[in-house]
Amino acid sequence: MKLATTLLKWYSKYGRTMPWRDHPDPYAVWVSEIMLQQTRVETVIPYFEKWMKLFPDIPTLAAASEREVLNAWEGLGYYSRARNLHKAAKIVATKFNGQLPRDLTELRTLPGIGRYTVGAIASIAFKMDEPTLDGNLRRVFSRLYDVAEFADSPAGEKILWGLAAQNLPKGKAGDFNQALMDLGATICLPKNPRCLLCPLTRVCKARENETQELRPVLKAKKKVPQYIHAAAVIVERGRVLISQRPADGLLGGCGNFRTQG
Ligand code: SF4
Repeated sequence: MKLATTLLKWYSKYGRTMPWRDHPDPYAVWVSEIMLQQTRVETVIPYFEKWMKLFPDIPTLAAASEREVLNAWEGLGYYSRARNLHKAAKIVATKFNGQLPRDLTELRTLPGIGRYTVGAIASIAFKMDEPTLDGNLRRVFSRLYDVAEFADSPAGEKILWGLAAQNLPKGKAGDFNQALMDLGATICLPKNPRCLLCPLTRVCKARENETQELRPVLKAKKKVPQYIHAAAVIVERGRVLISQRPADGLLGGCGNFRTQG
């Protein structure tokens, strides 16, 4: 049986339920994809639901102030994502009549929308036969085809995007991409993949070669920087002094107490 057929069968039974799935509005898919970058689904769900109540469509988001947007994002991290969403909404509201463009070249010009997000929006929201490649898909394809190339190198990226494209089932790219996301998040885990439960175990090259734990091959990560901060809270007659951080850099645009680094 073809890889896609097997996977789609599994997805119809075990696919995760999420509030943006089957949502009629491409805007919802866009918001969810941006929120899901580097963030777990369980964390995203309450933020997504609150966001869609506050900013139910692109014109409403475009008309909101940056403060309102950052307040709704507060706690989700990587605040440049929220600022880019806001900037992109303003462009869509003025240039594209409030609707996300279906032209993928135009879509790609919007702030915060890279190749991965274009593929996700095109396949899930616009039902186009477009591949995508997030961290989950990268891991799953690296294992299915036992790719020994660095997955985060230009050569590795080329191979993996090629595999994502060549396996796409016509007319079902959105479900296929989401099925791979779910498989990566629940079965083909970064550590200790659950191969015994995997629907693709019979076609998986890494499983055959026992290299699952060695795939994907990634370059060594940069050391996480450590900072020591001293903080003082200034309170006067019940009021707290809060400054706004510069737009660029860590927690850009957010409020914080005055601190000395
Ligand atoms: S068999 Fe194992 S390594 Fe291969 S895709 Fe499935 S879970 Fe991942």
